[in-house]
Amino acid sequence: MSIKIFIPTPLRPYTDRNDVVEVDAVTVDEAIQNLTKKYTQLHQHLYSESGALRSYVNIYLNDEDVRYLDKGKTVVRETDTISIVPSIAGGVDTEVAVEDLELSKDEILRYSRHLIIPEVGLTGQKKLKAARVLMIGAGGLGSPLGLYLAAAGVGKIGIVDFDVVDMTNLQRQIMHSTNDIGRPKLDSARERLTGINPNVTIESYNDRLTSENALDLFGEYDVIVDGTDNFPTRYLVNDACVITGKPNVYGSILRFDGQVSVFDATRGPCYRCLYPAPPPPGLVPSCAEGGVLGVLPGIVGTLQALETIKLILNEGEPLIGRLILFDALKFKFRELKLRKNPDCPICGENPTIHELIDYEEFCGIRKEPERDSRIEEKTEISVEELKTRLDLGEGIFLLDVREPQEYELVNLGGMLIPLPQLQKRYAELDPSREIIVYCKSGGRSERAADFLRSRGFGRVRNLAGGIDTWTEKIDPTLPKY
Ligand code: ZN
Repeated sequence: MSIKIFIPTPLRPYTDRNDVVEVDAVTVDEAIQNLTKKYTQLHQHLYSESGALRSYVNIYLNDEDVRYLDKGKTVVRETDTISIVPSIAGGVDTEVAVEDLELSKDEILRYSRHLIIPEVGLTGQKKLKAARVLMIGAGGLGSPLGLYLAAAGVGKIGIVDFDVVDMTNLQRQIMHSTNDIGRPKLDSARERLTGINPNVTIESYNDRLTSENALDLFGEYDVIVDGTDNFPTRYLVNDACVITGKPNVYGSILRFDGQVSVFDATRGPCYRCLYPAPPPPGLVPSCAEGGVLGVLPGIVGTLQALETIKLILNEGEPLIGRLILFDALKFKFRELKLRKNPDCPICGENPTIHELIDYEEFCGIRKEPERDSRIEEKTEISVEELKTRLDLGEGIFLLDVREPQEYELVNLGGMLIPLPQLQKRYAELDPSREIIVYCKSGGRSERAADFLRSRGFGRVRNLAGGIDTWTEKIDPTLPKY
């Protein structure tokens, strides 16, 4: 009996470009085998060397995945249709049919160095043109990423960001210029990217990514690239990618260390398979606290751009199931194997997460309204109050818990004990004195003050807003960093 098999775009080169092939068969297995007998080149794309159907090939009978029917033994009838579902297409399932796209003469000239590579060629360049990539963040990672995706001719680039360019960004965020200080990053990004390639459509989303908007937004894109620097957004991006079945091109950076991977739960592990839960707040410093070498996001963001383009082209071996660790100081790349965790709370066998949650709460980030202002009065001191008391000549003991290189840049005097050393060195402090602890913006000093109180220091207060606020409100002549 003759039935129809629908061939997905990436496999049509092996079926003489036919999108539908009729074969005679009684079962699904027989149909696929007869298809590969007719088109022998197709065999290696559908079957592994051991003869088993490849794990990323899904076969549907009408609307049903045959894994939930009788698998390969499922009997077929005359009116049935079989579809080979393009998870084989590299997880990127662009909505626009590549055949319907044309490249203009200008585009052919612009992309000529792509077009002469066999792995890209005209078809690959059309895939790039049809592709839709969503960038989360237009900062350090987003900068090289955006520049290269635009230059490569990715048809639609979405950017989620709600930040404004400031002076401290320019050391690494090469998408923005000195003239852009004070402008929304989305505006300078759009200008820069369309300046590189006017053929690219830029969609900007001037909003925080939230559990409310993530699923709808991700649904409009083929690949999501995570360029964020905080844990709530990283888990939100992961979970929304798993739920919508989109690949998540992941990168992260701190000081001299970078990480890159591709999380695609349809074909491999997700971020939660690696880290089911975030570290407690404060354990891992942010880039603002810990610093980052300007070139590093350039390297990591460029690797993310590379993986994104490979996913779109469906060429080479994507970083699925592999985590790359880059140590810039030693110049070492290490590769770790990542396995899908069967107990993963979102992509495992018995997932416990079925929808997006409150990620701020999940990451243990304290909500502002829950703070008790009466306690804050006792545990914090404002920059104005500190100034008044210093001017009165009160013998206040100041403790700076930043790093020595920060102290060297600017300080308010007092003793320097960097937060990581405080546990070992707190005995150097006099518990009977009033101690005002300060840092850059008030986060590290709050943790230091909490720690000292837990060790019996009765009169410890945290300088609210840190040296940043002091510079802003009390002494603008001090350098900001
Ligand atoms: Zn997982």
